Amino acid sequence: MASFDPDRISLPDGHYIHGRLVPGTGALAVSRPSDGKVYAMLPAADAGCVDEAVDSARRAFTHSDWARRPPRERARAMRRWADLIEADIDDLAALESLGSTRPIDQARAWDVPYTAEGIRFFAEFADKCGGEVAATASDHLGMQIAEPLGVVGAIAPWNFPLSMTCWKVAPALAAGNTVVLKPSELTPFSAVRLAALAVEAGIPPGVFNVIQGSGPVAGEALCRHPGVAKVTFTGSTETGRTIMRACAETGPKPVTLELGGKSPQLVFADVPDLDRTAQTLAAAITGNAGQVCVAGSRLLVERPLLAPLVERLQQRFASLEPGLTWHSGTRFSPLISAVQAERVETIVSRAREAGAELLAGGTRFETDRGGCFYRPTILQVETSDNPAVREEIFGPVLTIQAFDDEEEALGLAEHEVYGLAAGVHTADLGRALRAVRRLSAGTVWVNRYGRSHDYILPTGGYKRSGIGRDLGRAAFEANLHHKSVLIDL
Ligand code: NAD
Repeated sequence: MASFDPDRISLPDGHYIHGRLVPGTGALAVSRPSDGKVYAMLPAADAGCVDEAVDSARRAFTHSDWARRPPRERARAMRRWADLIEADIDDLAALESLGSTRPIDQARAWDVPYTAEGIRFFAEFADKCGGEVAATASDHLGMQIAEPLGVVGAIAPWNFPLSMTCWKVAPALAAGNTVVLKPSELTPFSAVRLAALAVEAGIPPGVFNVIQGSGPVAGEALCRHPGVAKVTFTGSTETGRTIMRACAETGPKPVTLELGGKSPQLVFADVPDLDRTAQTLAAAITGNAGQVCVAGSRLLVERPLLAPLVERLQQRFASLEPGLTWHSGTRFSPLISAVQAERVETIVSRAREAGAELLAGGTRFETDRGGCFYRPTILQVETSDNPAVREEIFGPVLTIQAFDDEEEALGLAEHEVYGLAAGVHTADLGRALRAVRRLSAGTVWVNRYGRSHDYILPTGGYKRSGIGRDLGRAAFEANLHHKSVLIDL
């Protein structure tokens, strides 16, 4: 299936608790980003519904065999789940594209297969947490064994609904935990489909539950629930702070927080292929219309390259046309909502008032079909205190600053709040490695930018970009207790 009719998609409309779709009360309007049309009314979980979901996960943890079954069998069920996800690509990709900013071609080529493969990646860890025997005195034996935590509460953002669900849920399940997930109220449906496929794959009912609703009500109740052992969250830094507070006041409970970013791209004058570099830089800020946590949003350019690079970026930006997410061929995404569009406009206008020079974009695309599409935008700024440099915009807005030497570039790259990712573009290996050492960032890409299928590399933030790591072994380990055992001999 390529393009599809957005009015003919059947929605898994409800919470998903203990292996079945549960209709709820309450009603939050859900809109399609491409045309702004309200296409569903979402049930909104209250404290009672959150209780029901956590109770289901708790029962599945203690009474199903999920935590106790041989780990390889747990892994096998997860691999079957991944196979079913791939087989369901038509429906899953359509659900994802209908309600989020992900164009259908990208949902089919990336989001769905990436999610399935991520589940397989974590399944492979299930039987690789054997613990160890410790060096102790000869009159006793000391061991360390790994055990699941219990019920993990997971809260996901709207920008990559399927793959963010995978990052949160797959490591928790592989370690033997059970999960209650709250997807974003803006993109609620593809996660329910994932949960239903998990049951079809033989993962016991109650192991993976989904509740719908708003952050301040359903999300907050989940974080504060006494039956939740840990909370894993991806979203904004501000919400991360609120969640950590809730977990501290009702625990303390451990948290994994994957938060915002304002990632720099350092481009040195010796890059061997400026066209290729421009292509990488453009993709890093226009992909998903810049609504990416690691968007390369702060371009730092060695001065001789400023004019030729800007020219190439202007050309690339001008070639991007907005399209409906359900049309095959669409490459440039809408912004998620009118609220987000107003936020982008406000920051761009404040940036210009503070002296930024507009080199491209700066307005919405005029369309007659609703939806908010913002032109890829370049702002040249002189100083780092400009709002467009300081604040996460979450739109296709690139700031550019020129530098004269390596030291100045590394100084400009440092952000006072964020440290999620960075890019370094140079032909000089020594300079690249010096930058890798100096940059405060959880991920540094050299002469490339963005994630491919590198699940083994952990992702997360320095500074206020987060606590803990998704992906990699670290994400799996963060879902385990390590119990010490001492046996008298
Ligand atoms: P958000 O913080 O507004 O919401 C994220 C989730 O938190 C949603 O499900 C929301 O309902 C829930 N929530 C809101 N208030 C809550 C509360 N008081 N208690 C519990 N839950 C609450 O973020 P967003 O707008 O959905 O996503 C965009 C943000 O996510 C950006 O800042 C982006 O950088 C970040 N992000 C980070 C990563 C990463 O890996 N670091 C990945 C993707 C997105």
